[in-house]
Amino acid sequence: MKSDIVPMLACPNCKGDLEISISNQQGQDILEGELTCLQCHEIFPINEGIPNLLPTNTNN
Ligand SMILES: [Zn+2]
Repeated sequence: MKSDIVPMLACPNCKGDLEISISNQQGQDILEGELTCLQCHEIFPINEGIPNLLPTNTNN
């Protein structure tokens, strides 16, 4: 995934803004990292360039 799409992504739980933390990048492509919600502080992993933005409603 490209880092410039991060502003277009939103937390699936609360629609909050996401902050990216990159652990492996090749050129413009982020291969491994994490997206952290600034609002609910949920962490969504990026694996093989695919952000895993699935809701994690564990407290219902
Ligand atoms: Zn959130």
